[in-house]
Amino acid sequence: MDSFIDVLKARTYFFDDGIAFECQQCGICCTGEPGIIYVEEPEITDIAAFLDIPREIFIERCLYPFQDSYSIREAPDGRCIFYENGCAIYPARPSQCRTYPFWFQNLRSEQSWEEVKLKCPGIGKGPTYSKEAILDCIGSSFHLYEVALKELMET
Ligand code: SF4
Repeated sequence: MDSFIDVLKARTYFFDDGIAFECQQCGICCTGEPGIIYVEEPEITDIAAFLDIPREIFIERCLYPFQDSYSIREAPDGRCIFYENGCAIYPARPSQCRTYPFWFQNLRSEQSWEEVKLKCPGIGKGPTYSKEAILDCIGSSFHLYEVALKELMET
């Protein structure tokens, strides 16, 4: 049986010809207004290993419980605590950061995408992501959309 993403790949979109993107590490999406930086269970282990600290210490000092997992703490100004002139955990960054800007909520309409383009200077630069690659990112980050939706409904 075709997966949800296989079904989506058979359709046409405004990004059928792909989208160029290369993160410029400007930090715009890592700073500013406070938000959720959702971390999944296996990612907790990976980031702690990358930082070379025990998992329990990482959870205690860098995360706070959020829904069924955790979110990374932020500085009082809303900046991710790992952003300091670049991402300090870039090779081990969570899926939320790894798949940005190719999130369902960003690509669900051309209008949403136009808004994201205004915020992210990496869009339009670098290698072109094919429609299939973009849909794979959407598929692997779709649970984040559900997390955001749940948060919205509870507030
Ligand atoms: S806003 Fe775009 S270019 Fe800047 S850090 Fe985020 S993903 Fe990279």
